[in-house]
Amino acid sequence: MLRRVLLLTILLAVSACVGPPPEAPHRVYHHPVARTKPRAMPTPFALPSMNLAQCEGALTHSGAVYDVLPDQQFSPSCSALGAVQMDDVAPGIPITNTKALTCEAALPLAQWFSGSVQPAAQRWFGEPVVKLESMGTYACRHIIGNAAYSYKISEHARANAVDIGAFILASGRRVSILNGWRGNADESGFLHEVHDAACQHFITVLSPDYNAAHHNHLHFDMGGSHFCR
Ligand SMILES: [Zn+2]
Repeated sequence: MLRRVLLLTILLAVSACVGPPPEAPHRVYHHPVARTKPRAMPTPFALPSMNLAQCEGALTHSGAVYDVLPDQQFSPSCSALGAVQMDDVAPGIPITNTKALTCEAALPLAQWFSGSVQPAAQRWFGEPVVKLESMGTYACRHIIGNAAYSYKISEHARANAVDIGAFILASGRRVSILNGWRGNADESGFLHEVHDAACQHFITVLSPDYNAAHHNHLHFDMGGSHFCR
């Protein structure tokens, strides 16, 4: 009996070493590039497929401050799987009004902010962004503002989208989508530049140029096929 228990223990130990990673299958994702159909535009993404642990490692490496959230399935359509609660989008730079956001969407957000937003702010305003105002991440709802898609579940319902409303500069100046998109040359130039840069990081990017529902924010998500307007 003792020998059988010992053998079982050894077998379990060996299988633990060579078995699959401990994540449940639904927690392992591949970068959307790998699972989307051929798209009209060439892919801007060069990221390899990565699992959740690799995504979280990259997010930590980016300097973002966040907590890992437990997987939650709120309803058949609404969930937050592989999601984080992001507090800082970059070291010392808070992001407001966030709830659950998939790591898959949080990582490009952090990379977009540090790689594109901060350099653009320095160029256009000569000062950095010190706070990023979001207008929300997770929300259990359908797509709004486009009757043709109103039957569809929004990527926000999968915690796979974030809306950006404004950038607060070090001087306290607030550059918002609402006032700046078609506003002063510097604010409009900055906002259009960071919008265009986001198209290199996210699958879908929507702005006030897309429809009236987006008059006051930029929408970024990691679902569907590549679309940037
Ligand atoms: Zn949105």
